[in-house]
Amino acid sequence: MGELLFVSRAFTAALMTNIVQGTARTLRQAGASHRRAFLSLHDGSSPGDVCVSWFRPGAKLPAAEEKQVPAHVDNERIKRVVRLNGHVVTNMMKDGVLCGSDSAPAMDGGDAELCGLWLLPAFLNHDCCPSVVCVPLDQETLACVACTSLDAGDELTDSYINLLQGCADRQAELKEQKGFDCCCRRCASEASELPAEVAAAVLQSMQDAYSVDDADEFLRRTEDIRRRVAAALLTIASSPDLRHMFRASLLVADIAAAMVYESPQCSLPDRKALCAEASWEVCQAVEQVSPLSAQHLHFAEKRYQNSALGSSRKDAFTYFFVVWLVRRAAIESILVGGPRVGQLRHLPPSDCRRLVQVFAKAQGLSMKCLDISNLEGQCSGGVEDLLEAAGVRHFGAAAKLLEFRSRPTATSTSQECRPETSGELDEYVILDEMD
Ligand SMILES: [Zn+2]
Repeated sequence: MGELLFVSRAFTAALMTNIVQGTARTLRQAGASHRRAFLSLHDGSSPGDVCVSWFRPGAKLPAAEEKQVPAHVDNERIKRVVRLNGHVVTNMMKDGVLCGSDSAPAMDGGDAELCGLWLLPAFLNHDCCPSVVCVPLDQETLACVACTSLDAGDELTDSYINLLQGCADRQAELKEQKGFDCCCRRCASEASELPAEVAAAVLQSMQDAYSVDDADEFLRRTEDIRRRVAAALLTIASSPDLRHMFRASLLVADIAAAMVYESPQCSLPDRKALCAEASWEVCQAVEQVSPLSAQHLHFAEKRYQNSALGSSRKDAFTYFFVVWLVRRAAIESILVGGPRVGQLRHLPPSDCRRLVQVFAKAQGLSMKCLDISNLEGQCSGGVEDLLEAAGVRHFGAAAKLLEFRSRPTATSTSQECRPETSGELDEYVILDEMD
């Protein structure tokens, strides 16, 4: 987990209005091998024929094969390819600095949205519990980072949608935007173990609750739903792993409760403490399905921004911030010009401090929710001291995360283009170009 697997340059990066023209222009200038890679992207009709070796820097086709690659690609096909494979980058970037959003693949934003098409990441299949997260380093560079533990030969999967929704909503979103039915483990388990009527009843109850004007009545109903979700999960989910996944699918009541406890309209005297606890629950659930996600960080921060949380959960926010920072430190250390992957444990205090500063700035985090100067002070002993200061004692993977390997062990991108030898993706890590 946390390993940087590969970095990819955009085939095209442009505003939504120009993405098709920009891609056509890139194609006109592209060599035959680059064009062939583009033509292998899924366009809604036939899955492309693809091989990872095409993406090696400097890969070149034999002259005989070059002639077989069409010189012209029509705009309709470009449109289909971009719609199915592109990313909206605008939401992933903020003020030109890494914002830390998840992959945002739907091309349904406004015309002013910045879009990008990355060839190798486009071959990552979707999973509702993805094994990697794609993070933009700038408008043209996408880093692919492991967010689960991976063995050689494991498929790398990305998420195309918001993961904090139920199976039916996820399936509907995928069908509409990408045209397929998801049959990942989370969807399969949810379909077989979480009765549709339970999920539907919870979501319907929430809809009903939203029609209530009175905050206390809304909370009473929401708390009732939360209790029903907790009880259902205990009887339904056969493993803690599944419980966490199902919980994320039914998170709407926890999110609603946290937000109403936060509101001054709530008359409960201990609403701040209740808000803190509900927020903590949400953060923990998000952590399970989207470990490198910024969603929980921003959710908790919003609660702090509105002064709803007391100081009791400031430590929890710091915890998530530091866990997240360490997980993404391989990327961040590149951004701040720090040491290479593999040297995180030996990160000098000055670089450790810069990581905290850049990271907090990139996230636009307020001082209210995070004591940056205090954290900077904790950096004198390096990353391990930072973890200790944030109370990250039971973070099982922390020790492992500090041992970022310079040579990735995970090697495959999909069933169709699985390399035969371990470490083959080393070829695609282009850190040198980023210095
Ligand atoms: Zn799924």
